[in-house]
Amino acid sequence: MQVPLLDLKAQYQTIRDKCIKVTQEIYESQYFILGPYVEQLEQEIAAYCSTKYAVGVSSGTDALLLSLMAAEIGHGDRVITTPYTFFATAGSISRRGAIPVFVDIEPDTYNISPKEIEAVIAGMSEGERKTLKAIMPVHLYGQCADMDAIKNIADENHLVVIEDAAQAIGSEYKKRRAGSLGDFGCFSFFPSKNLGGFGDGGIVTTNSNDLYEKLKILRVHGGHPKYYHQKIGGNFRLDALQAAIVSIKLAHLDGWTAARQENAKRYKSLFKEAGLSAIVKCPAEKENRHIYNQFIIAVENKRDELKQHLIDNGVGCEIYYPVPLHLQDCFADLGYSPGAFPVSEFAAEHTLALPVYPELADEQIAYVVDQIKIFF
Ligand SMILES: *Cc1c(COP(=O)(O)O)cnc(C)c1O
Repeated sequence: MQVPLLDLKAQYQTIRDKCIKVTQEIYESQYFILGPYVEQLEQEIAAYCSTKYAVGVSSGTDALLLSLMAAEIGHGDRVITTPYTFFATAGSISRRGAIPVFVDIEPDTYNISPKEIEAVIAGMSEGERKTLKAIMPVHLYGQCADMDAIKNIADENHLVVIEDAAQAIGSEYKKRRAGSLGDFGCFSFFPSKNLGGFGDGGIVTTNSNDLYEKLKILRVHGGHPKYYHQKIGGNFRLDALQAAIVSIKLAHLDGWTAARQENAKRYKSLFKEAGLSAIVKCPAEKENRHIYNQFIIAVENKRDELKQHLIDNGVGCEIYYPVPLHLQDCFADLGYSPGAFPVSEFAAEHTLALPVYPELADEQIAYVVDQIKIFF
């Protein structure tokens, strides 16, 4: 049996006609960048995330970069974040000339640990503390970080909070939506995210009118009015085609999310039935709405061999992420060594993402669990 890690073709079949129709409309209009489709999507996403505003941008990475620019974070400033995430999180901080300050994660959710954030701030010199400007938590795999604790720390230390919610559209923390929990919420429409376009795209949410205005101006090179520049922005514009496709998909998102949650539940009960509970650690669910962008298991031994066994037997799986960011060559000048963040390093060596996409059939999930049982 073949079980790919992700299969977007099945999903496409359910929205194909609408996508072709809207694409043709845009071709006929020859209006490709920003404009009415982007504005419509901005309103829809703001409503979906319970925020006042949303600003469509060119990618999730650019959503992070633009938010840092709007927060006026730049050369020599410090931003606390997690080393256990996709590269763009810390990459965007460094691209501003700012310094990522890594903080280890919690072992059950893989999200940044508020206790460790407090410890790192307490250990900073007065000079370092003056340059500390923001916290960038990541809602990894689709589950929100512990935002009450993070927000308290941010408020006490006058820090901006930029949520990297690229994997977490529709995720909730204590009934509040990802993207509405900090000053900025950054989302990605990369095709493999739960709400993906037909190319690159992203969006920033905010409740602040002031930040909203800044985001919009910086999205178009900082020109305000056009061709008059008080600030240096960039080209962070979203295409009409991407916005129109994402709008079509948004109507299906809650159904797809429910299917992902069902699949996660099925894995958990099948692992239990198969007597694998002691060997395969399943994702913890807090008082959150976990949207399962990824379903991650942790195994004590032989993760790489398990991965190979699954691939050899037709099961797509992947390691997110094999090298924590503090150990990436490009961040060597930050001065971190192996052992600096043991929980992140453990996760990098022991976890594996299994297929969890909405259209996955029950027999496919059963097959994946069977293959894991055969391996162990
Ligand atoms: C995907 C992702 C991004 C980047 O989004 P792009 O649209 O690919 O630029 C940033 N952070 C995290 C955690 C992601 O998963």
